[in-house]
Amino acid sequence: MPKNGKMPTAPATSPEPWAPPAPPPEPVTRDELRREARVVGLRDFQSPSFEAVDRRRVQLWALSTLLLILLSSSVVISTWAPQLAGAEQPRLALRLSVLFLTIGFAVYSFEKEAHLRRLSRLLFDERLLTTALSNRLHELSLLLEAGRAMNSVLELPQVLSAILQSALELLRGSNGSLMLIEHDDELHTVTAVGNDGAQQARVKLGEGIAGAVAATMQPLLVNGQPDSSRFPGLQARKKGVSSAMCVPLIHHDNALGVLNVNADETRIFSEYDLRALSLFAEQAASTIAKARLFETQRQQAEQLAHIAFHDPLTGLANRVLFVDRAAQALSRAKRHPAAVAVLFVDLDRFKLVNDSLGHAAGDELLAAAAGRLKAVVRPTDTLARFGGDEFVVLCEGLAGEIEAVGVAARIEEAFSEPFQLTAGQARVTASVGIALASDPKDEPEALVRDADTAMYRAKQRGRAGHEVFSAAMRAEKTGKLQVENCLRRAVEQDRIVAVFQPIVDLRAGNRIVGAEALLRLNDADRGILLPAEFLDVAEESGLIVPLGAWMLRESCAQAARCGAGPSASGPQATVNVNLSAVQLATRDLADQVAQVLQDTGLMPGDLHLEITETALTELSPDTLAMLETVTGSGVHLGIDDFGTGYSSLTYLRRFPVDFVKIDQSFVDGLMTDAEDLAIVESVIRLAGGLGLTSVAEGVESAEQALRLLELGCDLAQGYVFGRPASTFAAAVL
Ligand code: C2E
Ligand code: CA
Ligand code: CA
Repeated sequence: MPKNGKMPTAPATSPEPWAPPAPPPEPVTRDELRREARVVGLRDFQSPSFEAVDRRRVQLWALSTLLLILLSSSVVISTWAPQLAGAEQPRLALRLSVLFLTIGFAVYSFEKEAHLRRLSRLLFDERLLTTALSNRLHELSLLLEAGRAMNSVLELPQVLSAILQSALELLRGSNGSLMLIEHDDELHTVTAVGNDGAQQARVKLGEGIAGAVAATMQPLLVNGQPDSSRFPGLQARKKGVSSAMCVPLIHHDNALGVLNVNADETRIFSEYDLRALSLFAEQAASTIAKARLFETQRQQAEQLAHIAFHDPLTGLANRVLFVDRAAQALSRAKRHPAAVAVLFVDLDRFKLVNDSLGHAAGDELLAAAAGRLKAVVRPTDTLARFGGDEFVVLCEGLAGEIEAVGVAARIEEAFSEPFQLTAGQARVTASVGIALASDPKDEPEALVRDADTAMYRAKQRGRAGHEVFSAAMRAEKTGKLQVENCLRRAVEQDRIVAVFQPIVDLRAGNRIVGAEALLRLNDADRGILLPAEFLDVAEESGLIVPLGAWMLRESCAQAARCGAGPSASGPQATVNVNLSAVQLATRDLADQVAQVLQDTGLMPGDLHLEITETALTELSPDTLAMLETVTGSGVHLGIDDFGTGYSSLTYLRRFPVDFVKIDQSFVDGLMTDAEDLAIVESVIRLAGGLGLTSVAEGVESAEQALRLLELGCDLAQGYVFGRPASTFAAAVL
């Protein structure tokens, strides 16, 4: 049963019922030919020919004519000149012998003529057979040729057109088409030669000649005008077509489609041609099935490759593909390596969107950002996403740095408008780092790292900008690597040290009320290292997390032993511990603080945590909730370096803050700079108004201390009161 479920309806709907082509003539044996040739007396009886037969026949006729003339003249002579013929008796004998001779010769001639005729027929048969054989051989070679042509191409469209071309060549058709079944009930022209295609681009199964052939799976030969009553929906016969064949393409009992081959007025197809086309169609159908299978496999492979080399969220290239493209670009740009640039794009404050609007909004934003980036880079550039909010662009064929900077500027510009997300509006800018190749031997990964470093610098310089990787950055990078090594060594070898700087109460005659724990590294080679030398690296490498945890525990332990807690021996004093933004992001800080307090026995109220203003502006709602848990337990929280970040009064309201530390830079200019004085004055007033404690940092002179007291500042810290001491006890006692 065919795939479409219809039973073959009409029998082979050809004008004449299908009959096998006329059998070829009986084979002629060479021996027979030779025998006959010898009988008729051909000299070259081994290879008789039509010409030899004719010649022989002429000879025979000439001979018989001559003999007849001779015999009849002898009869005439004997009648009209009896004196020449002699006596009466011998004359009768002569006449009788002439009669017998004539009869005998006639029999001989007839017999030879019969053999000559048979020889002619045999020769004719042989010629017919040879012609048929050579025709077959020609068709066979065409068929083989077609098979080879169909199999040499693998892509479906080429296979289909090769099939049609071969069929037309094989059957000397003038035009034709190949139609495939689509959606189980429709034939669709997929390739056509001549005017056959457009006219029947789409027909329903069972409709017209092609539809009937596909439905019945029976080949059809139509010579002359087809009978429209037998073909519902038959289209008008195309001009210049006198004979047409349509055969089904069947594979594993399923009709795949039909093959139409038409002839112009110069040719009429025979049943024999229909048979040949049907045979050809069998081979073609299996080739189509093979090509289709290949096509699906190729598509699957392409899909897999796409998954392996692309980011599923944005559809952009992933790191693997990017690095590969970058390597290719570098090898292409041998003479002008600077034509290749890598731009590292990082979204500013993306985490904020993700945390406040949810991950779905974050994903939406990333997809939208990818779209904007795609719109500003050239089609030849490679845009990739490396995960998170990191996008990387590979530019080729640049004139130099200026052009790369132009691309960066376009990228920044693309983020000037806010993003309209389902969950709300989000304003996100981008920081871009640019690294230009300088050597074709540059490693793609190294270029990406350089661009990343430049991007990081752009972020440090206030975000929403770009930075080009420079030699200075490279040197700094190497320096940072050395520092990181120092840091790791110090952590491994337990060479981390906490020092404590006293904090005094200005109104109580500078009485020491606590101390701030400050981190030091004691490196084997480089001696004591200050935070300014390693803090950046510690934060970038994440080493600040274990370092900070150690500082918290050590400071609380020393403070508990010294002045607070159950075993308190000295005066009551608080301990201030600095927290970095990286530590805040680890989320388990609340548990960590609680555990340390429990382990050391320090009262929560005696622990003051300091967070820089810059770190506070980046806090997510989750982190804020965590900080509220911490302060809820009685621990105090303060803002460090107040005035240096993008300070806003809302921060003071939003965070559970107890104190603000006025940055050293303002205290420095207190006596000399009116602006600094104004800032210090207003911060102190603001803190007082909100019920917060004000702490002045970096107080170096008695005048500054006096001025701060006059301005109403509560606490102070600085070299004038005490330099960092080696233990908490030494600082507060
Ligand atoms: P900070 O929290 O503002 O700490 C005060 C810094 O000012 C300390 O520098 C201190 O030695 C210095 N200082 C104190 N009084 C004076 C003064 O009168 N004049 C001058 N010129 N400087 C004074 P230090 O120890 O180098 O620390 C620098 C920064 O490193 C700190 O600034 C703090 O932000 C960070 N830091 C230090 N220890 C830690 C820590 O354990 N964890 C974290 N996350 N950051 C730390
Ligand atoms: Ca501090
Ligand atoms: Ca500070």
